[in-house]
Amino acid sequence: MTIGLVVYPELCHGCGNCVVACPVNSLRSPEVSGGKGPTDDVEIIMMVDDGVIELKNPNFCGKCGTCVETCPVFAIRLEKVEEAK
Ligand code: SF4
Ligand code: SF4
Repeated sequence: MTIGLVVYPELCHGCGNCVVACPVNSLRSPEVSGGKGPTDDVEIIMMVDDGVIELKNPNFCGKCGTCVETCPVFAIRLEKVEEAK
């Protein structure tokens, strides 16, 4: 078991708080820290796609918990997950 980033799209209302607040996303894409989606093909951890949160590159996550704190509906969490084999 390890701690991993998990999203619950069925709870997400697509506000984008988590995407903007994530420091790793901001470092990888200045557009994201400004509140916009990435305008190039920079790979970020997660983004709102079609109105709901979607994990793109969870392997970049530093597990700081910032996104978890900014989500009003507990749709993104750090949880115990099975380790990838
Ligand atoms: S836990 Fe930290 S590094 Fe990982 S997605 Fe959330 S804000 Fe980004
Ligand atoms: S996971 Fe939470 S903070 Fe992120 S877009 Fe969805 S509702 Fe907003």
